[in-house]
Amino acid sequence: MTDRYAVLGNPIAHSKSPEIHTAFALEVGHDIAYTRILVPLDGFVATIDAYRKQGACGVNVTVPFKIEAYQYGMEHSQRAEVAGAANTLRFDPGQSNACIFADNTDGVGLVSDIRDNLGYAIVGKRVLLLGAGGAARSVMGALLDELPASISLTNRTIVRAHELAERFIRIQSNAQIEVVDIAHLTKYQYDIIINATSASLHESLPVIPATAFAEKSLAYDMMYGKGATPFLRFAANAGAATTDGLGMLVEQAAEAFLLWRGVRPQTAPIIAGIRQSANNNSE
Ligand code: NDP
Repeated sequence: MTDRYAVLGNPIAHSKSPEIHTAFALEVGHDIAYTRILVPLDGFVATIDAYRKQGACGVNVTVPFKIEAYQYGMEHSQRAEVAGAANTLRFDPGQSNACIFADNTDGVGLVSDIRDNLGYAIVGKRVLLLGAGGAARSVMGALLDELPASISLTNRTIVRAHELAERFIRIQSNAQIEVVDIAHLTKYQYDIIINATSASLHESLPVIPATAFAEKSLAYDMMYGKGATPFLRFAANAGAATTDGLGMLVEQAAEAFLLWRGVRPQTAPIIAGIRQSANNNSE
């Protein structure tokens, strides 16, 4: 019987998750069907309850439901607990002990892409994370685990950056996170600058001085699918190597597939295939 999965979000039409998971299933020879479900903003629990009753095996969850997804979980991975947000749920059947397992694969997806696909070691590097929303919260734990020399956090609304830093310092008492006001970024340089804001969605540039990019730095925009974003264009002009978040998207999906299916598919062919079709469409 075909096992059923879906990605839930609002909006959801743009999501590449169905093509990624369908390609994974083909690669490893599993029989799955994967769809998109548009969830009303006030209807997460009702939608997912109904989908579970239809016999679904699991879901991915995206903006703006990752915190609700975490709360919907009955058991949580450590990384979901640290983030307080989930992007993957697995429905484990059972007459009396059915379980909903909640995980967060965004952080490992980002780190795998930077470290393994792009070949940038994070250990010992000065990292700057822009943004303090759900994405920043989801990746902070995995970045800390890589033992960078320092992690700095900045955000347009600086109080949210302080709240996020305090959350992680509370959970991991040895976490070294420095909150830097945007106005003070001119004093520092970073080896890896990650744009975890949603500014690129609106074609805008988060405030960042060109001097913040150290020599041979990497600029990483979590946004994907719109070509070079204003952040990536700005970083390239400042001399940084640049990349979008497609690799992260595929890597976080591979971790979700592993959680559901017990096998982690190869990601490189899928990343290359999506890049190729994006290039063909833009020609
Ligand atoms: P949230 O809405 O939770 O947070 C948005 C963040 O962006 C806030 O920190 C907000 O600052 C900041 N922001 C918004 N507009 C601007 C602007 N014009 N200038 C500066 N800062 C701005 O969104 P998420 O954290 O969930 O998502 C952020 C991005 O990450 C999205 O583009 C999303 O697509 C991407 N993403 C990619 C993934 C991948 O796999 N590649 C996975 C997850 C997310 P403030 O607090 O001041 O409002």
